[in-house]
Amino acid sequence: MKSNEMPEIVRLELTNTCNLKCPHCRHHSEEKRLPENYPEYYKNKIFMSEEQIKKIFDEISPHKPSVTLNVANEPMISPSFKFAVKQIKKHDLSGTFNTNGLMLNEDMCKFLVEQEFESVNISVDAVTPETLKKARGITALDKLVRNVKRLVNARNEKKLPRVGVTFVVMPYNKNEINKFIDFWKDYADVIRFTGYITDKCPDISVLPDVEIEKIPPRIPCKQIYRDIVIRANGDITPCVITAESPDYISMGNIFEDGGIRKVWNGKIFQEWRNLHNQSKWDDISNCKGCDYWVDSLQPKEKETEEFLIRSPSPYTVFYNVKKRLDNWDSVNLIDRQGFGNNNFDLMEESATSEHI
Ligand code: SF4
Repeated sequence: MKSNEMPEIVRLELTNTCNLKCPHCRHHSEEKRLPENYPEYYKNKIFMSEEQIKKIFDEISPHKPSVTLNVANEPMISPSFKFAVKQIKKHDLSGTFNTNGLMLNEDMCKFLVEQEFESVNISVDAVTPETLKKARGITALDKLVRNVKRLVNARNEKKLPRVGVTFVVMPYNKNEINKFIDFWKDYADVIRFTGYITDKCPDISVLPDVEIEKIPPRIPCKQIYRDIVIRANGDITPCVITAESPDYISMGNIFEDGGIRKVWNGKIFQEWRNLHNQSKWDDISNCKGCDYWVDSLQPKEKETEEFLIRSPSPYTVFYNVKKRLDNWDSVNLIDRQGFGNNNFDLMEESATSEHI
């Protein structure tokens, strides 16, 4: 596998913090925020400046990457959030982000619609306030639902943003999956289910109903060939998984080490890629035992009467509501339903939400 001269996906962490303390969050839960648990990186709030954001977009825009405006944080609390959205539009790039939805007020919804921002995904995780409390530490499900509907309604006749709701499958909410689909299919354009990634190393054996014996032999992990993950301080972490590891790792700093191209093509990234190309991923402590490489397998899809269901990896399933596909960029797949790969294997007939 080879990387392009510049990354195809740029993941930009506008700030290193969040306005919630979701109990299942590997970064900012109440427990993780205890001084003895909170990594140094999170102890002081960092907000990327407009000047830094502009520098990043000036460098990446000629290469037309797809941009995600968050890593594991709440992007809308950044004072530079709107500036970053405008940079995406100014440079004619495509963008997406995940949010907890708390800041989707009238002004923000109007802004996202006016900007014709492509894709917004709101974490909901529950159909009852009790379950929401377990997932996100809050009970205001009615307000969250109102905020999602507000964004959908703000579009009026316009098509964008494409609005998704997301659900991280946990033992305490698994029995709400079908109700979640039934409720949101009338409002959202796409419903995404994600398997929980355990604290240190993604482990597919903890995903419900994944048949390990059907997983093909390991292949190089496309994360390090395709995506760059830029932390709020400019440090590059190798992939979305190391971004979430309690052990801090940096491949270089784009503000101090000569920019994105330099770090992306630098010695450490190349060493990681060489080892993966030689099937020596176990020589990298972070990759040894990390099952997230399954995200590099061939994505799958199937159609039902109501949904076009796509699964880019055993970790994720997207239910695209068929009657609202007109705002879906199915070629560029900026909402990451198998980005960069438009060949899909047929999903097994039995594979439904029960298999997430
Ligand atoms: S195998 Fe895991 S840790 Fe290694 S690059 Fe892929 S996602 Fe990151």
